[in-house]
Amino acid sequence: MFPQVLERLEWNYTRSKRSDFTDRMVDELYRKGILLMRWHVAGDVFSPNYARKMLEIIGRSPHCTFWFYTRSWRVPTIFPIIKSMSIMPNCKVWLSADAETGYPPDIPDTCRVAFMQTEEGEDTEEADLVFLDRPLRKLSLPMLNKVCPTETVAGKERGTSCATCKVCWS
Ligand code: SF4
Repeated sequence: MFPQVLERLEWNYTRSKRSDFTDRMVDELYRKGILLMRWHVAGDVFSPNYARKMLEIIGRSPHCTFWFYTRSWRVPTIFPIIKSMSIMPNCKVWLSADAETGYPPDIPDTCRVAFMQTEEGEDTEEADLVFLDRPLRKLSLPMLNKVCPTETVAGKERGTSCATCKVCWS
């Protein structure tokens, strides 16, 4: 929606397609002493070639712990590479699902499932973590122990943040 954000995302995308992207990322993560990195605040694993680049960067950056959420488990040419990332000791993979996608038919032991709940009563049984659509955040839903604490009233009152919660990368 916002031109500055779109411009930045376009810049990120073109960088990710460069032939030296992998070397540059490995170098930057090392030089800046990055210990935790979440991929794709906006975006996803968009091609097998990009997935292979991610795999290489993770493998060459053992000092850093990575995590990401992805809906690309639905793409047969990408999912095997996502599985390879998930078995790396410094990478946590979340398969994203919602009522529209349903749950992944094949959930490797090394992956967890994050469910985006948009309506009350949706099936969150198979989810390891639940994110709530904004209108649901004010409600006291069951299974609160699975809901991202920054999205619950109780979590907000406690002042929980990703830094104190750590569920996604541990
Ligand atoms: S608060 Fe916890 S569950 Fe929510 S995004 Fe951060 S680390 Fe993940």
